[in-house]
Amino acid sequence: MRKCDLCGLNEAVYTDLSSGISICADCLMKSVRRRAWRVLREELIPGDRVMVAHSGGKDSSLALLLTKEFADSHPEMKLSLLSVTVDEGTFYRRASVELAKRLASELGVRHRTYAMEEIHGLSIEELDFKLPANWKRSPCTYCGVLRRQALNAIAREIGATVVVTGHNLDDLVQTAAMNLSRGDINALVKTLRHERKIGEGLIPRIRPLKMVYEREVATLVVAKGIPAHLGKCPFTQGMRIGIRREIDDLEDEIPGSKVKALQTFSLISNGLHADVQLRRCRICGEPTTTEVCKACQFKRELSSLLNRDLVHPLNLERVRRDRDVVWG
Ligand SMILES: [Zn+2]
Ligand SMILES: [Zn+2]
Repeated sequence: MRKCDLCGLNEAVYTDLSSGISICADCLMKSVRRRAWRVLREELIPGDRVMVAHSGGKDSSLALLLTKEFADSHPEMKLSLLSVTVDEGTFYRRASVELAKRLASELGVRHRTYAMEEIHGLSIEELDFKLPANWKRSPCTYCGVLRRQALNAIAREIGATVVVTGHNLDDLVQTAAMNLSRGDINALVKTLRHERKIGEGLIPRIRPLKMVYEREVATLVVAKGIPAHLGKCPFTQGMRIGIRREIDDLEDEIPGSKVKALQTFSLISNGLHADVQLRRCRICGEPTTTEVCKACQFKRELSSLLNRDLVHPLNLERVRRDRDVVWG
């Protein structure tokens, strides 16, 4: 058994490859907490109603736990917390919804689940069954757009002032690299900069794990026995897989390069001017930069395939009813 290089007490569970230092779960937790709390301290404001987008996966579960700890140890901030799961309706999600409920209840945080089917009128499982093999898009592509829109709409209608997500360092470097390779400056700025005023109907996002490696998250969740789903979504497809591999290879060759890349991307994006003209989608009324939002474009495309009209505003009735009760 190798002892922790920092405290010398416990068994080491994680090796930082750029420094060569091996540390125990307690010391890793301290280090991750320090990085996450720095983000929360800089980006939360007193009185915030914080909705944690809590899928039940490892990242958002750790994000919820650290945000709850932060709220508890900063009573002067008067933060309210709510955990929300969007159930996309896949076999993969079913297990993680249960884990999300369990963690929220262990932490004493209110939790709500809203189904993609209820909000958008279709589930990703249905798409997985019904999309023809040669269809131009994968369920993953639809899921990403529909889930993001649902989470923002839920946050807005439930009265959250900010959304916390579990995106880690690896996710953000991948997304930034994808934005860069598409030449999408607006998306790059949106990914990396926290802005309070981003436009009517859009709720600002905070990513407390943005300087935390995915490997650190996975190690902590296992070592600390945090109730969370460890698997990767089986529907993940497309450009991200290739980019992830390239970035992981680079990190193997030059440990620390993910941190350097994210810092550099952030510096670049701070100097950029994002030109985002937000308006409301002509069909669903959700914020968008185009006349008809991407989700409605997708739903239009799926309506004929699924033989029913999916093109309508989101069903947020239950969310609105919850608005007055969840913040306690
Ligand atoms: Zn230690
Ligand atoms: Zn729309």
